Amino acid sequence: MSHPLEPIYALQKKDRRLIKILREIRDIPQRRSDIEAQLSGSKKKLAMALDSKKHTEATLKELELEVESLKQQVVKYKNQQMEAQTNDQYRAFVKEIGVVEDEIKALEEKEIHLMEALEQGKSIVAECEAKLNVEKAGIADELAELDDRAAHLKKKAETMKADRSRVAAGCDKEILKKYTRILNNKKDFAVVLIEPGGHCGGCHMKLPPQVIHDARNPTKVVACNFCGRIVYNPLHKA
Ligand SMILES: [Zn+2]
Repeated sequence: MSHPLEPIYALQKKDRRLIKILREIRDIPQRRSDIEAQLSGSKKKLAMALDSKKHTEATLKELELEVESLKQQVVKYKNQQMEAQTNDQYRAFVKEIGVVEDEIKALEEKEIHLMEALEQGKSIVAECEAKLNVEKAGIADELAELDDRAAHLKKKAETMKADRSRVAAGCDKEILKKYTRILNNKKDFAVVLIEPGGHCGGCHMKLPPQVIHDARNPTKVVACNFCGRIVYNPLHKA
């Protein structure tokens, strides 16, 4: 008769390949964000440039409103000036108008500086956008490759899952349960071969002669006394 561990051992080979693929699929989102993180420096610089431009625009707008209101003030003074009753009143308006016009002149000079700063700000924004776009293009291939890899692995995993279910159906139910429990616990192997010299293939401890002997017996399923993994001694190797 064939050893009941034979299909389990074959299942384990499939499971190990499947686990490796599932791990790779699981790690892909992290790899994706690692690649995208390369853009964070340029994104930050662009955000700062946009902020600075917005601030300049707002200040400029305030100045424009202020100038507008001072110009209205001048118009108002000039109308009042025309209605002046005395020379003193007239001269007082000339003085007032002069003060406001100086103020307007000073604000308009500030406006010119701010407009220059705004032009500079716009070109900095454009530079930052261009740099970010170059970097985005640079990682696009890498991301597309990763997406292709993910799609390929998912498809492969589905096929492998179907295949392992087919093999699992041919395994002894009790042994399969034990195997699954040990594999979930140990993560690497649940069934190990006995190494030359009678050592456990999992933890490499020397096994008692009785365990080595029983491991050949198809009616018995024995575990390593040290690590608890099922030890398997294929009949054809005995
Ligand atoms: Zn062991």
